[in-house]
Amino acid sequence: MLDDKTPTYPPSDEMAAAAHIDRAKYDEMYAASIADPEAFWSEHGKRIDWIKPYTKVKNTSFAPGNIDIRWFEDGTLNVAANCIDRHLAERGDQTAIIWEPDDAEAGAQHITYKQLHAHVCKMANVLKKMGVGKGDRVVLYLPMIPQAAYAMLACARIGAIHSIVFAGFSADALGARINGCDAKVVITADGAPRGGRVTNLKDNVNKALLHCDDAVQCLIVKRTGQQVAMRASGDHWLHEMEAEVSNDCPPEEMGAEDPLFILYTSGSTGQPKGVVHTTGGYIVYASMTHEYVFDYKDGEVFWCTADVGWVTGHSYIVYGPLANGATTLMFEGVPTYPDAGRFWKVCQDHKVAQFYTAPTAIRALMAKGNDYVTKYDLSSLRILGTVGEPINPEAWNWYNEVVGGKRCPIVDTWWQTETGGHLLTPLPGAIATKPGSATLPFFGVHPVVLEPTSGEEIHETATEGVLCMKDSWPAQMRTVWGDHARFEKTYFSDYKNYYFTGDGCRRDADGYYWITGRVDDVINVSGHRMGTAEVESALVAHEKVAEAAVVGYPHEVKGQGIYAYVTLMEGQEYTDDLRKELSDWVRAEIGPIAKPDLIQWAPGLPKTRSGKIMRRILRKIAEDDFGALGDTSTLADPSVVDDLIENRMNRK
Ligand code: ATP
Ligand code: MG
Repeated sequence: MLDDKTPTYPPSDEMAAAAHIDRAKYDEMYAASIADPEAFWSEHGKRIDWIKPYTKVKNTSFAPGNIDIRWFEDGTLNVAANCIDRHLAERGDQTAIIWEPDDAEAGAQHITYKQLHAHVCKMANVLKKMGVGKGDRVVLYLPMIPQAAYAMLACARIGAIHSIVFAGFSADALGARINGCDAKVVITADGAPRGGRVTNLKDNVNKALLHCDDAVQCLIVKRTGQQVAMRASGDHWLHEMEAEVSNDCPPEEMGAEDPLFILYTSGSTGQPKGVVHTTGGYIVYASMTHEYVFDYKDGEVFWCTADVGWVTGHSYIVYGPLANGATTLMFEGVPTYPDAGRFWKVCQDHKVAQFYTAPTAIRALMAKGNDYVTKYDLSSLRILGTVGEPINPEAWNWYNEVVGGKRCPIVDTWWQTETGGHLLTPLPGAIATKPGSATLPFFGVHPVVLEPTSGEEIHETATEGVLCMKDSWPAQMRTVWGDHARFEKTYFSDYKNYYFTGDGCRRDADGYYWITGRVDDVINVSGHRMGTAEVESALVAHEKVAEAAVVGYPHEVKGQGIYAYVTLMEGQEYTDDLRKELSDWVRAEIGPIAKPDLIQWAPGLPKTRSGKIMRRILRKIAEDDFGALGDTSTLADPSVVDDLIENRMNRK
């Protein structure tokens, strides 16, 4: 339905000529990567410095009962050395990290590669002194401060496995994750300022540790200087410990398949999964996607607005950019503090070239009006990126026109915690974009569309179904921490011999992929299968609508009816007339079949802490069955749910 009227935006001639990859090169490299993955990755694995070079490249099996994924398995390396030490000779005095604090008046910090090296070595020695060694687990519960990056790299340097818990999570969720991996140490801070409010992180850690082994130690970064309650033993201030150690710490030689980190998924579709990523394949893929997808060039300032608590922060704030010797920006605050112009002010102040954020932020800022954007000089921007959810074309257009001034290609990157890096994405100098499509696969990525019930691969180009991967890529997750059976069951049991993404997609006549939503969320109205994304995008295209979420509910005649939750733009009035207008609008945009049966006004939508709409909760409310909402540990604001239940439209 979308194809006929969807405009395409080819890269400008200038962009194509200057980019690392143009269309001809993409076609040639992609074909080579699929024809002979062994040869392709043998070559591209060399972008990383190995201590002992690999001789084996790919050893992967998706066969039932034998899910086993290894890349570069006999090579050895150290990720921290790749992200720091190897740059020292050439760019020791170049800024590695620009840190922009929550308080816009406080001033940014610039940390050079040399300084990064000293900080990381010190922290690594502190961890060693606390008894942490190769293979031990360390939980990070930190604000977005440079010490978060130091801590990740310090773990990588000594071969410890980090598990980052987003600092917005509760003590309970933190405790479960400390126990989940038997962590030896928790690294935290006294307080976390965000949007002008301060959370006492150490208090949360203390509460969490009440339910953990007494031996778990705690390392505390002084961020705010506020009073904190120290436990009788096992608690240490980082600055005190650092005074006692040297700033020389040789990097540990790690096997390519040694775990680098554990990270939980967002919990949009159920209980979060503890994803395990390993060393060699992950860093090759994170660095390669960072360079090509963002067309990163030496000296540019790259800004990914995610939190390091999410995979996006792992791969595209820390590991990918630093492996490439880039300057990466870390932002402690929120997009709307002190006002909705903060992102754009930071872009102006630091001359950001690549800006990478999530649809939820774009929609929220779009609702605030254009003035917040247009008053800043955004001429340094070259590339815009988005990740996390399908981006509605309306939000895409706004991003393109108002933020990018129609100059900047938008890379809509589809990927998952499990995939470690981008799988479907445009390359800015190579691929013409279409608003709302993640376009084409990255090198070495082999997507297929399966018929949902039979599991048969569909070979026609234009089609729709379940998105799976036919073969492995280097940054694929290796297992669920401590539960390989869950790994097999979640990703390899519904469709044998494929990696199942859990997402539905459409492939258009040009071979472009469009994520239609989670497979669990597909709606079947009178025998027509529909993804949630398309109906939501139609709603968001209405000028008064800021955000929408659509789910199915049992309907006597149609099988399933369409239930829409709608948030309006700031200042709009919620009226019955508008409800009708919106129903008619969707009918006109897509067709009678997609017309919502019920529209509930939603001043807020339930989202994960990473900003994704939790449709499974909305489905329960729409079904008038909200007694058991399932795992809500990653829900950002439970009060939103209470309001939606109280005002639900379908009462049995
Ligand atoms: P859980 O697996 O616990 O339910 P989650 O899937 O939300 O949580 P993440 O790994 O953070 O956890 O998110 C990956 C999912 O985000 C993808 O499967 C997809 O549904 C969605 N997604 C990410 N990027 C995009 C994108 N560019 N377009 C459409 N959807 C996207
Ligand atoms: Mg998922």
